[in-house]
Amino acid sequence: MSEITHRTKTRPVKVGDLTIGGSDEVVIQSMTTTKTHDVEATVAEIKRLEEAGCQIVRVACPNEEDAYAIKDIKAQINIPLVVDIHFNYKLALIAIENGADKIRINPGNIGRREKVEAVVNACKAKGIPIRIGVNAGSLEKHIIKKYGYPTADGMVESALHHIKILEDLDFHDIIVSMKASDVNLAIEAYTKAAKAFDYPLHLGITESGTLFNGTVKSSAGLGAILALGIGNTCRISLSADPVEEIKVAKSLLKAFGLASNAATLIACPTCGRIEIDLISIANEVEEYISKLQVPLKVAVLGCAVNGPGEAREADIGIAGARGEGLLFMKGKTVRKVPEETMVDELKKEIDKLALEMEQD
Ligand code: SF4
Repeated sequence: MSEITHRTKTRPVKVGDLTIGGSDEVVIQSMTTTKTHDVEATVAEIKRLEEAGCQIVRVACPNEEDAYAIKDIKAQINIPLVVDIHFNYKLALIAIENGADKIRINPGNIGRREKVEAVVNACKAKGIPIRIGVNAGSLEKHIIKKYGYPTADGMVESALHHIKILEDLDFHDIIVSMKASDVNLAIEAYTKAAKAFDYPLHLGITESGTLFNGTVKSSAGLGAILALGIGNTCRISLSADPVEEIKVAKSLLKAFGLASNAATLIACPTCGRIEIDLISIANEVEEYISKLQVPLKVAVLGCAVNGPGEAREADIGIAGARGEGLLFMKGKTVRKVPEETMVDELKKEIDKLALEMEQD
């Protein structure tokens, strides 16, 4: 099994009952697509996200109705709620008062010092952090003037500008994102940010696109950053159902050994030796294990020639044989099962192993 790349050292920052930073964990988050003041629709979407494995959820807060809705939403969900605010400090104060677990606001955009102080004091009183969201597309005018166009150095300078405002008020519960839709720019910006300060980093490639292309683009960018040991929480931004963002994030973190509570499917690519309908079986098994919260590795292989040996690291698996399947564990065949029942047999064994792992 490959070793994980340990996270660079960052401060731990509490968000509700979770901690971002200070460990190897990368917390998965997403953002709702509903109108936040439509509490019923927002809660329903958050519940679907929770079930998919979302650990923190963010809602937009463009007006007071949305800020006041935080209370009712919070009462009905189980994961920390982040409220996304642009400029308006009053909305931030209402959201904090109504139970936000974290706010996303750039202190440099709030305006007069008294307003910034009011927000910071409210966060201090409730013990909630602030995420500074640096975005290549909306850098401050003086930074664009200095660098000519959005650069990684300009993004880091912007982050440090907002950080200083908070630090001057003795506020350190800070998380920073350095989003860009250009993958290379994002990689450079996050790499430089990790060297420039030790606040936890929220990873994301912004406006990455539709399900397929956005997944590829986000995985390419975030993969490069994660491989450097950078990043403490991530959001995959897709023009799709946000549940898809969670699926992609889980899969990406699994690929780096960074998801300690998710099962993985190993499936062969198939070739001329195939003996079973592998693609539909693989999809069925993948769906079945998607809700498991243990690091079980399951393999589904088209034939027994290279099968069990190819998937030695799997805890359990099946390999197709003519008219039957071979059930194997850790590379060793344990028994033969008829083709018609092999998926059910595999599921039963998966349940047993998952239960054992949960009880360990
Ligand atoms: Fe081909 Fe068998 Fe390997 Fe699948 S497991 S790729 S069917 S040899």
